[in-house]
Amino acid sequence: MASANKMGAGQSGRPSEFSDPRRARMMRQVSEDRSSAVSLFLRVYTGQASPREAIKAKCLECCWMDEVGIRECTGTACPLWAFRPFQKVARKGGGHESH
Ligand code: SF4
Repeated sequence: MASANKMGAGQSGRPSEFSDPRRARMMRQVSEDRSSAVSLFLRVYTGQASPREAIKAKCLECCWMDEVGIRECTGTACPLWAFRPFQKVARKGGGHESH
């Protein structure tokens, strides 16, 4: 497995320690706009994320944290389209409905 430093993060993995300026900027923006996704992006940037998590991070970046936008994504030519997250809508009563 690649080291965190090689992946662009410092030993603690904190956003301020990312040596890659693009990743550092992304971590800053994510922490400002959707702090709940910071750990997801950290896992992606340190090589610890699953493919599913990487797809989720990409879709969150693409639609800038808009779950409805991802669910209703019209980019059917995107290779990730069939695998995008948030396709199931929570219904009252606990069930899920696919859209
Ligand atoms: S599936 Fe849609 S939201 Fe996800 S990366 Fe592709 S175009 Fe963007």
